[in-house]
Amino acid sequence: MTISSFSELALRPELQKALVEQGYSTPTPIQAQAIPHLLDGRDLLGIAQTGTGKTAAFGLPMLQTLMDGAKPRPGQPRALILTPTRELAIQIDDSVKNYGAHLKLKHAVIFGGVGQGRQVEALQRGLDILVATPGRLLDLMNQRHVRFDDLKVFVLDEADRMLDMGFINDVRKIVAVLPKNRQTLLFSATMPPEIADLAAKLL
Ligand code: AMP
Repeated sequence: MTISSFSELALRPELQKALVEQGYSTPTPIQAQAIPHLLDGRDLLGIAQTGTGKTAAFGLPMLQTLMDGAKPRPGQPRALILTPTRELAIQIDDSVKNYGAHLKLKHAVIFGGVGQGRQVEALQRGLDILVATPGRLLDLMNQRHVRFDDLKVFVLDEADRMLDMGFINDVRKIVAVLPKNRQTLLFSATMPPEIADLAAKLL
């Protein structure tokens, strides 16, 4: 079956409305494939580059999964998106804001190279969705500003770039403390052995 319109996907009206406002009418191939699969609660390995629409492919089902849940507890996000660079983190957070414009979910972005004060405050206010780069996240985890007991959805974005940029050990340390009972999504443009190995462990 080919999906030619977002209205054919089982996305709630609040999300459909945001898509109309974004000017999206037709799902990209990765969105058409991934959204039904993720709405079923399954894990996903996506071989996809930036520019394919992958942010909405994971973001829309994630928002739908979270929208009926309990309010987040301070310092305990319900979804985590790990991405290698500050620029990507900001872009993803922006997309989450747009796609979730008609939901009451709270989100924030954290990355290194800036003071941590405002990031810690955002965590303390309670977040449904945390977008983060690995180094700063690990730092804040070690300081006990964030924990993942309530985590429902974990997205590892650009996994091969994590490896290239030397972040893979930080990623492994973060993954090690995530609850086992969660939905996991891994995106990578290429599949080097280290990432295939990580995917096999995670998914
Ligand atoms: P991404 O690969 O998620 O970074 O998305 C690449 C660009 O495509 C972004 O500017 C999105 O806003 C846009 N985009 C994503 N999905 C769609 C869609 N179904 N229709 C039109 N534009 C889209």
